[in-house]
Amino acid sequence: MGGVVGRGRRASAVSERRRRTRSTDDATFKPVITPRTTRLVRVPDLQGMQAFIGQCLDTADALGTAIVVPSRSAAEVLRDTIELRCLSGDSQAVAIPDLLTRVELYERLHARLPNAPRRLTESEREVIFRRSAIDAIDQGTPAPFRVRPGLVGEMLAFYDELRRRDRTVAAFERLLSSTLEPSADTDRGADRLLRLTRFLVSAFTIFEQRIAATDRVDEHGLRALLSAGPLSREVPAAYRHIIVTVSDQAADARGLWPADYDLLARLPRLDRLDIVATENVLAAGYHQRVHDALPEIEEERFGAPAALPVLAAPAPEPDDEGRRWIVCRDREEELADVARSLKRDGCGPLDRTAVVFQRPLPYLYLARQVFPDARIPYQAFDALPLAGEPFAAALDLVFSFAISEASRASIVELLASPHWSFKAGGLEIEREDVAAVDARLKELKYDGGWDRLASLAAAGSSPVEETAGGGSKAARAARALRASAAAASDLRAFRDGDTASKQLSSLIEFVTAHERVPAEGTPGHDAHRRARAAVLGALESLRDAHRAHDDTPVPLGELLATVRRWIESQTFSPRTGSSGMLLIDAPAAAYAEVDELRLVGLVDSDWPDRGRRSIFYPQQLLSQLGWPSDADRLSAARARFHDLLRLSRIRVSVSTFTLEDDSIVPGSVFLEEIEHAGLPVQQLPSPDGVRVFLHEAIAEEPTVASALEGVPLEWLTLRMSRSSGADLAYHGTAGARPAMAYSVSSLERYLECPFKYFAAHVLRLPEERADESGLTPQERGQFLHEVFEAFFTEWQASGRRTITAENVDDAISLFGAIAERELARLPESDRALERTHLLGSAAAGGLAERAFAFEIEQGGEVVERLLEHELEGAFQFATDSGARSVRLRAKADRIDLMSDGTIRVVDYKLGKAPKISRALQLPVYGLCAQQSLQGHRGRSWTLALAGYVAFREKNAFVALGASSSLKEAIDAGQTRMLAAIDAIERGEFPPDPDEPFLCTRCGYASVCRKDYVGDE
Ligand code: SF4
Repeated sequence: MGGVVGRGRRASAVSERRRRTRSTDDATFKPVITPRTTRLVRVPDLQGMQAFIGQCLDTADALGTAIVVPSRSAAEVLRDTIELRCLSGDSQAVAIPDLLTRVELYERLHARLPNAPRRLTESEREVIFRRSAIDAIDQGTPAPFRVRPGLVGEMLAFYDELRRRDRTVAAFERLLSSTLEPSADTDRGADRLLRLTRFLVSAFTIFEQRIAATDRVDEHGLRALLSAGPLSREVPAAYRHIIVTVSDQAADARGLWPADYDLLARLPRLDRLDIVATENVLAAGYHQRVHDALPEIEEERFGAPAALPVLAAPAPEPDDEGRRWIVCRDREEELADVARSLKRDGCGPLDRTAVVFQRPLPYLYLARQVFPDARIPYQAFDALPLAGEPFAAALDLVFSFAISEASRASIVELLASPHWSFKAGGLEIEREDVAAVDARLKELKYDGGWDRLASLAAAGSSPVEETAGGGSKAARAARALRASAAAASDLRAFRDGDTASKQLSSLIEFVTAHERVPAEGTPGHDAHRRARAAVLGALESLRDAHRAHDDTPVPLGELLATVRRWIESQTFSPRTGSSGMLLIDAPAAAYAEVDELRLVGLVDSDWPDRGRRSIFYPQQLLSQLGWPSDADRLSAARARFHDLLRLSRIRVSVSTFTLEDDSIVPGSVFLEEIEHAGLPVQQLPSPDGVRVFLHEAIAEEPTVASALEGVPLEWLTLRMSRSSGADLAYHGTAGARPAMAYSVSSLERYLECPFKYFAAHVLRLPEERADESGLTPQERGQFLHEVFEAFFTEWQASGRRTITAENVDDAISLFGAIAERELARLPESDRALERTHLLGSAAAGGLAERAFAFEIEQGGEVVERLLEHELEGAFQFATDSGARSVRLRAKADRIDLMSDGTIRVVDYKLGKAPKISRALQLPVYGLCAQQSLQGHRGRSWTLALAGYVAFREKNAFVALGASSSLKEAIDAGQTRMLAAIDAIERGEFPPDPDEPFLCTRCGYASVCRKDYVGDE
């Protein structure tokens, strides 16, 4: 292959003519400044394109040549391909031309333009545009939406697209107004679009005036300067030869715009312009469009078609009708399948093997786990989003702190973040301080607010007391509170500075004052520095833009949204790895010289790449402005897919997957294209079950320790030296324990799950609780008990006993007064809800009414009520082998002593009554109360009734023994209790919940090996 072949017209004859190019806006012709050779180089395939580039290098003046590629990663891949090609021959060195994206080409042209005005940064343009949009509204053109940061970016992108399609603002107004005005009176949609158009026209006009008033240029001004301005006639050549290897915007979102072709046609002192395209892409509409953009372009064909690679396809199955692609469960499985096939089938040099995706994420993240696990080195060229870097994510914590006005969660996250450092009283805030302040703020029901934070910090202990208090929880919490308040103070100017630049300066100062930089040489140091530079660069750029063009203060929410959007739009981290398999996106793959290729992610959302869609206008209107149709994009994408199928020299395979985020995803329409590619098919061998990954080596039996080395091997050795999975210790047997005094609630917890008891009462671990706004269930239960205790104490003190139909109104009225008194103790924000709980609303009665109703129904005469009655000591329980003494601690909510010598034990439950199979309280309280009350008031007492007043039950009173006799229920409860005590004293604490759903609300789930509960 090589050499220029085909039907080229005589270049010199054409170059002597002053060719003209067509402006898509006004259909006039603009003169070309410099005579040049403009060629459309038709190549049969991507290998042909690479060969053409190689052939140009032989004669290229590297400094005077630029090759336009779709992305930076494509430039990196092309650089490698050029180096490999050149250095594999006799050459010892290779001069590589500038490999540039479209954006970089403009930057380079600007840099090479002497005395050029400075370019506006993108931050400056956005700041100017935001101000222009606000001015447009102020001048009487209302926007049909609120001008939010995201929409500012969208409007600016729309303006740029108009200009790049060679449309002026006047032409935009003329075209859309003439279309929309006739129907605006009768069609609300048209009316809205017309108002939108008027607003955009006004904002764009002001924007252009504001840009003109600066002494700087943006991309559009630069284009005007380069192609027609007086500077362009005197300047030396930026480039003598430009090779364009991307197609146009209609075919590819990374391609050239009409205005770019116009510029290239008229760029001063450019001798040669080569537009290179494959036959597939040309046939998909690009051929016509490139001739429209560059009339009189010459055509040449270069190279012969390369040999086709074989298509590796899975063995056909009965129901797949000869499927030619691999189906995996998800994206991770796709990469795992690549690793397996590399290990199974072997391959040539790894750096001639490529995995190609349409969208780099999440493949690049997944690759970090999958390929090292399979010990396959790889190199990746795609940039990752800056927002995914830890430093950028850490900045989000500052934003949350600011926007939530220092909510408890944001304080905890900020202080605990390893990326930030805070001090109080000269001491660094530590994790224990954060835990202490978290607990303290929970206690205080703190829900954010700058003033509240400041007053809490001021009311806390002084630094001297904190130091004296050392590591006490109170001292730690106070220290962390003071650090939080100081952080809030550091951000004051960010929150409410009187200029935008002061707001941003304050944020920058906060970052530099509190950042914790990883030590040099530690993992993450370099990445941190790069991310930091990018983030601070973005903040400084935005600050300077505001200072120069619009320094009015920006509301905090808007400023945060702008900064977030900026960070999200940046990409970060260049190349990963320097050798090994290539992981590249589809546009970059076109420049790779590979033997083996796997196209992954063939799902509907990825292939074809649908590019950006306008959020302002429907396609029908946009097509009047020169926007391409979806059909153009689709046929060009299909053409590029066919080019990729034929790119590799030996073998290609394609995979798709079926599940993403637990949802079934449809396959790409391009899968059906595979069989039309005409590739010879090679059947893939069936899966062989050979272990490929390190995790398989150690997770499956027999364990292959030799697969590991270093620290992982040390861990494996340690793990293998530990008790075997069959040991009783592994299943919760902790050895015999001495008898002790048990609380009944702890025994109930054992019946819920033995491991829960172990965690709470043996290890004494604090229980993790979900954050609740308002009272937690425990606090609400405690509060309810206190209100009922206070009520019955006063009811009794006033000489009243039984609640009857006659006095129930008095009881409710007294309960209401007591409830109000107790409610006053609660934080104000909790009172309304708790009042409704206790006293009811217009829609439903309160707890008191339900509790009293049961007593009226039961009847009987109460002579005394024992409230929150403690039952403590040794109690006797009957067993088959005789009486058994057990030490217990318990507190019965209420014991009513009746005039007939019976007792009634009552327990309050906010929710439903507990499941009878693990309920101990009532049977045990009943037995213990009978024993402990012997002789009280000079007589014996017999348990007659026990039950729960459970407020979420249909009938508020749920009696013990409702489905059997009371005695049977008491006996069963006693048996359960003794069995639980025996098991505790034998040391049996398996994670074995009474019902699996208990795990879902368990406060010890994070320390429990609950994964084997399901296997038991
Ligand atoms: S998570 Fe489940 S098994 Fe583990 S302690 Fe909690 S309830 Fe028991």
